Amino acid sequence: MKDVSGNSNSGTLYLVATPIGNMEDITLRALRVLGESDVIVAEDTRRTGILLKHYEIKKPLISYHGFNEARRTPAIIERLLGGDDVALVSDAGMPGISDPGLRIVQAARHEGIRVEPIPGPCALVAALSASGLQTDEFHFIGFLPHKSGKRMKRLESLKSIPGTLVLYESPYRIEKLLREMNEVFPERRIVLARELTKKFEEFLAGTPGELLDTYCSRKIKGEFVVLVSPM
Ligand code: SAM
Repeated sequence: MKDVSGNSNSGTLYLVATPIGNMEDITLRALRVLGESDVIVAEDTRRTGILLKHYEIKKPLISYHGFNEARRTPAIIERLLGGDDVALVSDAGMPGISDPGLRIVQAARHEGIRVEPIPGPCALVAALSASGLQTDEFHFIGFLPHKSGKRMKRLESLKSIPGTLVLYESPYRIEKLLREMNEVFPERRIVLARELTKKFEEFLAGTPGELLDTYCSRKIKGEFVVLVSPM
């Protein structure tokens, strides 16, 4: 068996979970690692800057997002190989979960660099744990494709999957998603986990049709995790 825990000369790549809405949701270990790392690699340096300022952490920041990750990864790997410890953070929650992270984790593992998760907030886990839906088997779907035809095809393909389905969706496409679900799973119980950890957090449950009525009458806003109960 190959030991992938990392070689001792290089630094460590830490994947640090950050709050998904409530500034208090950060672990003591995350704060220590952010404070001790040589550099913080952030999806949005402005947003991470606010978090760091709140916790009085001063560190150099490097921007790392969907549009520059391919270009930036080699230089970050060089720093790690040179012995620097690097903390990777995304805009919210766990890096690598529907956020940048996979590319640099794979590159680091390829070089034998140690990779450590610093667990904490993650919207999918928070939503699932309090949804009241089955948790012993669930499937994380993440975001559906943007184009209508591909979305419907993907939703159709999910119909036969057992366990709870967990999806992420942009606030701008929630109504569209509920309409699509009303066609594909009209009988299923859906839970909308809205604004998790924030002031207006709520869990709304019903069939897609019932939730569409609520959504349209109340003009519900915010970030959502969408959960679909098993057949
Ligand atoms: N890496 C993040 C995590 O660990 O959960 C997910 C990032 S993904 C780009 C953003 C999506 O996560 C949003 O569109 C929404 O579906 C979900 N999300 C993030 N924060 C949320 C919150 N506070 N309440 C509800 N959903 C949230």
